[in-house]
Amino acid sequence: MNPVQFIREKREGLKHRREDLKAFLEGYLKEEVADYQVAAWLMAAFLRGLDPEETLWLTETMAYSGRVLDLSHLPHPVDKHSSGGVGDKVSLVVGPILAAAGCTFAKMSGRGLAHTGGTIDKLESVPGWRGEMTEGEFLERAERIGLVIAAQSPDLAPLDGKLYALRDVTATVESIPLIASSIMSKKLAAGARSIVLDVKVGKGAFMKTLEEARLLARTMVGIGQGAGRRVRALLTSMEAPLGRAVGNAVEVREAIETLKGKGPEDLLEVALRLAEEALRLEGLDPGLARRAWESGKALERFQAFLEAQGGNPRVVEDFSLLPLGEELPLASEKEGVVQEVDAYRVGLAVLALGGGRRKKGEAIDHGVGVYLLKKPGDRVERGEALALVYHRGKGLEEALAHLREAFQLGFSASPLPLVLDAVP
Ligand code: URA
Repeated sequence: MNPVQFIREKREGLKHRREDLKAFLEGYLKEEVADYQVAAWLMAAFLRGLDPEETLWLTETMAYSGRVLDLSHLPHPVDKHSSGGVGDKVSLVVGPILAAAGCTFAKMSGRGLAHTGGTIDKLESVPGWRGEMTEGEFLERAERIGLVIAAQSPDLAPLDGKLYALRDVTATVESIPLIASSIMSKKLAAGARSIVLDVKVGKGAFMKTLEEARLLARTMVGIGQGAGRRVRALLTSMEAPLGRAVGNAVEVREAIETLKGKGPEDLLEVALRLAEEALRLEGLDPGLARRAWESGKALERFQAFLEAQGGNPRVVEDFSLLPLGEELPLASEKEGVVQEVDAYRVGLAVLALGGGRRKKGEAIDHGVGVYLLKKPGDRVERGEALALVYHRGKGLEEALAHLREAFQLGFSASPLPLVLDAVP
């Protein structure tokens, strides 16, 4: 494989051979192919595209570039991925439900970036909880509790990490085959047999239209199936935040409320639908999901999981153990019916308060956030509170300005469906 010839091939829109693609990328990992050559190839791939076979080969090369977990000895190993949203605490609800329904939910999660949150950040608001662990601890917890969530280790798909950093500085992030292969490489390496994907669509999501989201979902499902896994994607709305809580500690509180049967309906609906799909993929009765939730067994599983990872399990009974900031109501300047709560704006508000990171590696404040008292369809009087803001003074004015922009009031509202489509 000659790197210059390889780059020229994609520049001309030709299809690569599997062994060349593998050799080029493995050469990059071994520093035998220069990063400027990979940067040029990424741009060619961005502009010319990769076909389904090339996308699968790229994914497999990334997945097998580091450690690959084997969960096949565990009962019903399932994984879940979200393409990123605002107020998206679904993993905290779906994981315990699936564990209580007899599956092994052993997941590697990321941290939040820009206006979207990350599961590890959310869980770290529980005093003592840690996402770092050895592979042995990961497998032991997966077996004993059926539920383990680890911070993604750098030796999982290291080629993806290297390529992603290069995409970030070469304007080649927003490509469906590159995004799909990046996500799926980590899912393949994490070892689950069945994978459910929650592809978010709308203002607060990376995919703004149903068409784009469908294409991403089809590409990811195609990769997973091509690699011999069972995969299903749901396309779910991210116009408004999911649930009412946005921020780290407030989202953990809402996830616990949901496991107790006192949470918001939209969050429960998405969590149950995904859990049912995962059970179907595993050949199990989808009704087990609702029963695991209703019986309180999912909540018990969540508590055992927190404890196993060093977290204080008493947060489930006592929310005062969560580090919440000072509470400030945001009053409505008008009366009317809420037509829209722009998820992107709410995400920016939490970012301004210090609850998210603008750059990778930045420290965050787990106790800041927003609790939406009003959602689309709700009536509001002038002076009535639209939301509660949890803050520590920092970025408060900017956050309030984003929140005022987020709420659109009118005369009536027509609620949109939450689950928009499924693939396949
Ligand atoms: N998330 C990923 O893991 N990779 C991408 O390319 C985009 C989002």
